[in-house]
Amino acid sequence: MASPQNFDLHCHSWISDGMLSPQDLVARAHANGVDVLALTDHDEVAGLADAAAAAADLGIGFVPGVEISVTWANETVHIVGLHVDSANAALNDGLRATRSGRERRGREMADQLAAVGIPGAFEGALRHAGNPDLIGRTHFARYIVEQGVCQDVREVFQRFLIDGKPGYAPMRWASLAEAVSWIRGAGGMAVIAHPGRYDYTPVQFHALFEEFLGLGGVGIEVITGSHTPDQYREYAQVATSYGFLASRGSDFHGPTESRVDLGSLPPLPDHLAPIWRDWA
Ligand code: AMP
Ligand code: MN
Ligand code: MN
Ligand code: MN
Repeated sequence: MASPQNFDLHCHSWISDGMLSPQDLVARAHANGVDVLALTDHDEVAGLADAAAAAADLGIGFVPGVEISVTWANETVHIVGLHVDSANAALNDGLRATRSGRERRGREMADQLAAVGIPGAFEGALRHAGNPDLIGRTHFARYIVEQGVCQDVREVFQRFLIDGKPGYAPMRWASLAEAVSWIRGAGGMAVIAHPGRYDYTPVQFHALFEEFLGLGGVGIEVITGSHTPDQYREYAQVATSYGFLASRGSDFHGPTESRVDLGSLPPLPDHLAPIWRDWA
C-alpha cells in the first residue's frame, strides 16, 4: 500500500513566534518530505504570500492558515483556520484587533519580570520578535534563556509567564464565535488546536466542542506535537464521537525549540476522517 501523504497543518514562522522565515520553513518542510504544509502563524497572515511562493517554487502543496487566540471560560484556546483567504477584510480586521493588546500585555509582563530581577525584558523580547506586533510569551522566554536565568524555553514556561508565576499578565483574546466566523467568512475551515493542552473539566470540554460545532467549526487536532500517544487515542475518540474531521500538525516553532520536526509525527489513525478529505 502506498504510504499516506504527509500533511503538516500547523507551524509557525518568525511572523509570529517561530524562528525561521516563511521561505526557510517551507524549504525545511520540503526537505523533511512534507507533501502539504499549512503555515498557521498566531493572529497574523502576513507570512502566507512568501510561504505560498516558496511552496510553488519547490512543488509542495501549501494551505494558507492562521492560529487565532481565543478566550473561552477564562482560558486561552487556539483555533486554527485552514484554507483562509488572507485578503479577506473581516479576517484582517479581526486579527488586527486580536493583536492589539499584545504591547500593553508585554509591558506588564516586563514590569513583573523586572520586579523579580530580570530587567529589560520588553526590549529584550522585541529583539527576538520578527514582527513587533506579535510580541508574545515565546519571545520573552527566549530573552530569559539568553539572560542565563533558565536553561531552555521549556524551563521558562515552568517558572515564569504562566498563571500564578512572575511575568504572567492576563489577556482577553477573541471570542470563540468571532474566531470561527472570521475563519468561515474567509472561506476557511476552523479546527480546535491541541485540545490536550487545555485545563478544562470534562463538562467544559463537552460544552466547548458543542459550541464550536454549533458555530460551524469542523475539525480537531488529533496528532499534534503537543499530544502524548495517549492523547492521540483520546482525541481520536473525541473526533469520532463528535463527528469532527481530524487534523495533523507538528506545531513546529524552530529547530532548537520544538520537540517535533516538520512532517515527522505519526500518521492519523486510519479510521478517522481527515480534514483534507475533500481537498482537491
Ligand atoms: P502568547 O500567544 O504570547 O500567549 O504565547 C503563546 C505561545 O507560547 C504558544 O504558542 C507557544 O509557542 C508558547 N508556549 C506556551 N506554553 C508553552 C510551554 N509550556 N512550553 C513551550 N512553549 C510554550
Ligand atoms: Mn507559539
Ligand atoms: Mn497553539
Ligand atoms: Mn501553534
